[in-house]
Amino acid sequence: MRKLLIVALAAVALGAARKLEPTVTPEMIRHSRLLDVLYFVNVVYGLAMLYLLLRTKASARLRDLAERTRAAAPVYVMFLVLVTTLLDFPLAFYEGYVVPHQYDLTNESLAMWLGDEAKALGVGLVISALVGGLILFAIRKIKRWWIVAWLGSIPLILIGVLITPLVIDPIFNKFEPLKDPVLGRDLLAEAGRAGIPHSRVYQVDKSKQTKEMNAYVTGIGPSARIVMWDTLLQKLDHDEVLAVMGHEMGHYVLNHLWKGIAFSVALSFFIFWIGQILYERGLERWGSRWGIRDVRGDPAALPWLLILSTVITFLISPVTSGFSRHIEHQADVFGLELTHFNEPMASAFVKFAEDSKADPRPPRFIEWWRYSHPSLGRRIDFVLGYRPWEHALSRRRMHTPGTAAPPPGSSPGTPGTSSSAPVPWRASASPATAPAGTPRTR
Ligand SMILES: [Zn+2]
Repeated sequence: MRKLLIVALAAVALGAARKLEPTVTPEMIRHSRLLDVLYFVNVVYGLAMLYLLLRTKASARLRDLAERTRAAAPVYVMFLVLVTTLLDFPLAFYEGYVVPHQYDLTNESLAMWLGDEAKALGVGLVISALVGGLILFAIRKIKRWWIVAWLGSIPLILIGVLITPLVIDPIFNKFEPLKDPVLGRDLLAEAGRAGIPHSRVYQVDKSKQTKEMNAYVTGIGPSARIVMWDTLLQKLDHDEVLAVMGHEMGHYVLNHLWKGIAFSVALSFFIFWIGQILYERGLERWGSRWGIRDVRGDPAALPWLLILSTVITFLISPVTSGFSRHIEHQADVFGLELTHFNEPMASAFVKFAEDSKADPRPPRFIEWWRYSHPSLGRRIDFVLGYRPWEHALSRRRMHTPGTAAPPPGSSPGTPGTSSSAPVPWRASASPATAPAGTPRTR
């Protein structure tokens, strides 16, 4: 009893020391607004770039060049990726290198940043040539190609999610089992309560790229795992890490990656369907002006397909973001029920907002349109108020005196749904669609 009291007092003292509301600075607001503007600028810039490639017939010339080789379609796709990456470079450099340095969010050298961009370009070239080549082949051979493209996208997504943590991610960073033995032991216990094999938890050396912190769930089946950035391990205390991991374990246990894949497959059914209609109408109308031949599956028309997919993806952002926020909220609920760490979770959110210079309470429209997570302010409010187990406990005490509280995590939140991308913990906003499908690794 005495021991319990001491523990309780210590917890209260610790709780009092925790900061439960971020200090909002003008710099934080400026940084958040800048990222919001860049999000929209990226979309407009990408669209303008693709349109100019068509209007100036540069796309048609790239096709002529590619036709000198034996594999015209994949070679054209590679040319397109190279050209768009080059045209997009000033914006990518500003957003990926200049801004993080201006706001003291990274120590990364220019050489390292360029190295990562070059690797991303390499990966993008291979994947785009493959996927773009297959789509062009389907357009050429099949009348209703949208159905085949949609069906074909399912195994491609599954393979992509499966191999990303095993093949793509290690190109950029080193992943290893958790080093801290004490934390490892406590995470083992936490994972055990959530029903997750401990071997699924990794740490990654993200500190070489950024000072910001994060954790995420990625992979499916044999490649499924929870990854913690080393920056997070440096900046959060023991209980905060366990609170954040409770959230991640929620994604894992509630199968959010699978649900996200199902969601994107269902949504892309309509995207491909509308896509083919608009693709053909546009080519009938403007195709000759763009130097596109009157044959099905001319590679030179690919920028038009990318314009359509960018516009549609942009317009349905509120749907995909809303879906993502929904499952993020469910992971927060799961984490709290597993750990009962309300204050540590809130103080982790405070550290995150201050550390990454993110406005904890952004304009409602921005959050609705593009935030993949509820804003940090909203999450803090929620986690500080969510304690259903206390009611359950007091009710139980009234009826059956002496009954122990249920073990944490015995009643996980209702299962939810997710986006197919790795599910990160922090309130990052979904990036604008990259025109040529080059993966951004930040
Ligand atoms: Zn999450």
